[in-house]
Amino acid sequence: MASNANSGTHEEVDAAEPNPESALDTARHQLERAAAELDLDSNTVERLKHPTRVQRVSVPLERDDGTVEVLTGYRAQHNSVLGPYKGGMRYHPEVTEEECIGLAMWMTWKCAVMDLPLGGAKGGIVVNPKDLSIAEKERLTRRFSKELRDIVGPNRDIPAPDMGTDPQTMAWFMDAYSVQEGETTPGVVTGKPPEIGGSYGREEAPGRSVAIITREACDYYDFDLDDTTVAVQGFGSVGANAARLLDEWGATIVAISDVNGAVYDPDGLPVQEIPSHDEEPEAVTRDADDLLTNDELLALDVDVLIPAAIGNVITGANASDIRADLVIEGANGPTTFAADAILERRDVAVIPDILANAGGVTVSYFEWLQDINRRKWSLERVNEELETEMVRAWNDVREEYERRDVSWRTAAYVVGLSRVAEAIEYRGLWP
Ligand code: NAD
Repeated sequence: MASNANSGTHEEVDAAEPNPESALDTARHQLERAAAELDLDSNTVERLKHPTRVQRVSVPLERDDGTVEVLTGYRAQHNSVLGPYKGGMRYHPEVTEEECIGLAMWMTWKCAVMDLPLGGAKGGIVVNPKDLSIAEKERLTRRFSKELRDIVGPNRDIPAPDMGTDPQTMAWFMDAYSVQEGETTPGVVTGKPPEIGGSYGREEAPGRSVAIITREACDYYDFDLDDTTVAVQGFGSVGANAARLLDEWGATIVAISDVNGAVYDPDGLPVQEIPSHDEEPEAVTRDADDLLTNDELLALDVDVLIPAAIGNVITGANASDIRADLVIEGANGPTTFAADAILERRDVAVIPDILANAGGVTVSYFEWLQDINRRKWSLERVNEELETEMVRAWNDVREEYERRDVSWRTAAYVVGLSRVAEAIEYRGLWP
């Protein structure tokens, strides 16, 4: 068991979690926990607790009224031993340097669990995207691309969309980079529109991978999908795509939610017809009479619970209420450290985000391959290769889970960390 920053072992974490850990604290504890399972060189572990580089930049933005505001942006690059850095770029008022480092570390493990030749990075600008006009967002993105020019590139660091950014943002970033380089360089970012080098199936990929991992986990625990009930928190890109695929494959989706609450029908909801967040924001709850709260959704008596909205929703305070047998993490970091310990004690299997939603970065990798080879793949090929990669990663994690008698989360970290550590061993630390 990994130790908590202030309070000893995992199990001893205060259930009320008065001081939730930062993303970086959590990432370091997860690293220590997995490192304890592997007989790793302590110098390697020490190295991996720190990012290779964090670039902090000032980004001047000319507002539509002609005034100039200077915003702060970051790009944290954690580790590139396996290949170029890879990770999202978010526009959010609460972006911090520390958060970028923690999330970059998660990306290192996520790429390694999927056995991709990529490392981990994360970045963003401290800004509320809702306060920006489209023209302001474009100017900001182009200038950010200019400020990061020396450290990004198809062989260095490849950003992708994240909170507050989207395919259009990636198109502006790619165009600004290409103009400076003097050549069209689609491989500098992923998550672009397909018309300019984006991949078919990228948008649906995280939800698709959540569905594939749910199917594999149900099979492992002998749940017949036709008899499996599922509750999904968040009906956005991840939640809606996962729910619709699982529905297609025979599962019964009994509850879905948006930020305003949840709808529940024990006989199953028509998830193919209900608009997702992208199609029509908050349509899930718009015409419903009887709403459950999002907390009530988490506590439903279902076979599978998929938190796919935001982080830190299953906490020390509500983990004892979870009645699902299986939790599949669609969102990033939906389960806190304290909740993890409680669920583990209660034998609730939690399949971690770094495996379950890794379809996003996997299809980003496919996009990068298509860009550098100047050759587009069909949607069928993307989905077939994603299926193969997800099942292979599931089997790798399952083997460690069975061999080591650890949680699914630790098993996934063991798979990722051992790949990174072996690469460091061959290449050397060069201290
Ligand atoms: P989205 O914006 O498309 O949808 C989010 C959904 O969650 C919406 O239905 C929204 O109403 C709901 N929601 C928002 N706040 C909520 C709250 N406080 N309580 C309950 N529901 C709430 O987002 P998305 O792209 O589907 O991402 C969801 C999660 O998955 C995030 O944690 C994200 O980091 C993670 N993720 C996304 C991708 C991706 O490429 N989209 C990839 C990997 C992981």
